[in-house]
Amino acid sequence: MQPRDLSDHVAYEAGRGIEEVARELGRDPSEFVKLASNENPHGPSPAAAVALRETASSVSSYPKAAHADLTAAVADRWNVTDEQIWLANGGDGAIDYLHRAMLEPGEDVVVPTPGFAYYGMSSRYHHGDVREYELSKSDGFVQDAETVLEGYDGERIIWLTSPHNPTGSTIPLEEIRRLADATDEETLIVVDEAYGEFADRESAVALIEGRNGYDARDDVAVLRTFSKAYGLAGVRLGYAVVPDEWADAYVRVNTPFAASELACRAGLAAIGDDEHVVRTVETARESRTYMREHIDSHVWESGGNFVLVDVGDAATVAQTMQRRGVIVRDCSSFGLPGCIRITCGTKDETERAVETLNGVLADLGLGSDAPEGPDTEVADP
Ligand SMILES: *Cc1c(COP(=O)(O)O)cnc(C)c1O
Repeated sequence: MQPRDLSDHVAYEAGRGIEEVARELGRDPSEFVKLASNENPHGPSPAAAVALRETASSVSSYPKAAHADLTAAVADRWNVTDEQIWLANGGDGAIDYLHRAMLEPGEDVVVPTPGFAYYGMSSRYHHGDVREYELSKSDGFVQDAETVLEGYDGERIIWLTSPHNPTGSTIPLEEIRRLADATDEETLIVVDEAYGEFADRESAVALIEGRNGYDARDDVAVLRTFSKAYGLAGVRLGYAVVPDEWADAYVRVNTPFAASELACRAGLAAIGDDEHVVRTVETARESRTYMREHIDSHVWESGGNFVLVDVGDAATVAQTMQRRGVIVRDCSSFGLPGCIRITCGTKDETERAVETLNGVLADLGLGSDAPEGPDTEVADP
């Protein structure tokens, strides 16, 4: 027997872990720092860690109350109804739910290239084809309505990532509104704000709800996750915020008990711990400013907890850095074979990453001089 034709499907390539790399190189894990998966260098909120321990003895029950409690807390944070919050197993789970709810077989999605691989993977699971719009390196990966429309031909869903992984660029709400106005009524714009906490940008929830001068609309949804700013990547928790008009679809498409008891309790504790998020965001801002100022190669301005660096030969640079103890993300699998992505670490981690990278670039004679233009200024907001 064989599964269905999976020739169009590819495996997700995650950032490499310390244990995996140390074993492969026959070295001690303590020699490495990992700045490859945009994880939180401060770990989870301490309150979430306590909640996880306290919940351990009650995991024999299905997570009904915990699910309801977290949904209410998240709805409260965004000032929307509980129905509008679609909890899921990570932001990735919410991507699946949106595809389940929206795509008829043969309906397609449009995704950014370079971009996050899971949009296309998930669409294919749901029998949807994938088209691309291109963010171009030559203009700093700028995101606006025109750029996206170039790849659009009436598809059901358009995926936006703001801040964008792996480039760090963002798209203004006004551009999202223009895009939504220019596309079919039956085209949904999903704004993936997995890194939203790290940017000085207002959430696209304002477009759904009609706040800050925008008209409310039913063709925009927002994706959020607890994996990045909240430091809960390991528990798998994320959600979509969707318009009230079709929010009731969730109960018909979600996997029963979409998020686990542990995930819900950790998420509830984390959402109440502002201090941890503020500290995390502050660290990311300092780290990306430091990297832009000190790396001997072009670093794009980033709204996320990572920066993209133009190194010329990503595979070689990432491998050499890894041998010197710093694991970063080779962006070849994102479609950028000349770039690496470095996650914002603590001050020590960031300094070590910069020193290591600059050493590698010098030894290999690689790296770019920053291109001309305003983008070369160190202007991190
Ligand atoms: C990390 C990430 C997500 C969601 O990750 P989960 O761990 O599944 O919550 C979604 N989109 C982008 C662009 C990401 O980088």
